[in-house]
Amino acid sequence: MKTYEIACIPGDGIGKEIVPAGQTVLAALAASRNTFKFEFENFGWGGDWYRRHGEMMPANGLDALRNKDAILFGSAGDPDILDHITLWGLRLKICQGFDQYANVRPTRILPGIDAPLKRCTPEDLNWVIVRENSEGEYAGVGGRVHQGHPLEVATDLSVMTRAGVERIMRYAFKLAQSRPRKLLTVVTKSNAQRHAMVMWDEIAAQISKEFPDVKWDKELVDAATARMVNRPATLDTLVATNLHADILSDLAAALAGSLGIAPTGNIDPERRYPSMFEPIHGSAFDIMGKGLANPVGTFWSCVMLLEHLGEEAAAAQLMAVIEQVTADPALHTRDLGGSATTAEVTQAVCARIAA
Ligand code: ATP
Ligand code: MG
Repeated sequence: MKTYEIACIPGDGIGKEIVPAGQTVLAALAASRNTFKFEFENFGWGGDWYRRHGEMMPANGLDALRNKDAILFGSAGDPDILDHITLWGLRLKICQGFDQYANVRPTRILPGIDAPLKRCTPEDLNWVIVRENSEGEYAGVGGRVHQGHPLEVATDLSVMTRAGVERIMRYAFKLAQSRPRKLLTVVTKSNAQRHAMVMWDEIAAQISKEFPDVKWDKELVDAATARMVNRPATLDTLVATNLHADILSDLAAALAGSLGIAPTGNIDPERRYPSMFEPIHGSAFDIMGKGLANPVGTFWSCVMLLEHLGEEAAAAQLMAVIEQVTADPALHTRDLGGSATTAEVTQAVCARIAA
């Protein structure tokens, strides 16, 4: 029987609750299908590790992950540690170390979810946002001079390379082509950002020629936010820069009902390294340790993990079970207006997998 080795990194906050829930569901799924199994290895990296060792993960930590089939990630963030240290020291270290340059974020209104767009049906809102995940506004290039002085200057340069933009654009066109509507919206801000974003537009036009069957259009990022609210059905696949897609995908998750539902894959499309799957939310310290965390975003991330492994049937089974569970208001966590706990939702998913 095929065995998949999965690295699990719960990280901080509710990551410690939702990643074990994800493992439980994946194990239940493997047991029910009996065609493959999982071997999980847990890594206790994050804020607690930082307090003991002065770093979020060991310097050679990537070596322990390199040969895994995939990574299931929770969140990185600690109230006592500066955000840019937790982020760069763990999550971005893995994303960059393994060149997971495509960050893929599906958004749908799942059955039974009371989404804020009242005129919008689940058929109207079915998006996938492709986020450039290796450069752009989060390239880490910049600096501060005269720190603390009244004349201090600080910069964060947005760095885009032709190779980096071409590969994410090609990935997005390919993904759009694989979806029924074959529709791609390229998000830009080339009216105000006159260098990198103009190159971004030119490369979109160039790559589009490789995909004559994909209908595509261009939208300024500010207009894109309004369009997501006013005309959601006109969107399907979106591709945007690191910063723009970061913002658009939080909006997308909120429009679909809750930050707690939305999944992500940090993908290395060339499969040189393991890809990493995680819910889009952060460590949510306000609700940690109370059993209030919605595990659906993690379960949906597990669906993406299974698709990445080529386990399409198992992925479809888990997605169908997730939809049965969201359809039942008695199984909604507090973020969805219900009172179910993380454990109750996890048990309900496992019971339906076994049924
Ligand atoms: P980070 O800095 O780690 O990104 P954050 O402060 O941005 O964290 P998030 O964790 O992204 O906060 O979430 C924002 C709010 O949404 C949280 O305060 C929490 O109440 C709610 N939330 C996030 N994830 C979930 C979830 N899985 N279940 C229920 N509520 C959630
Ligand atoms: Mg956040």
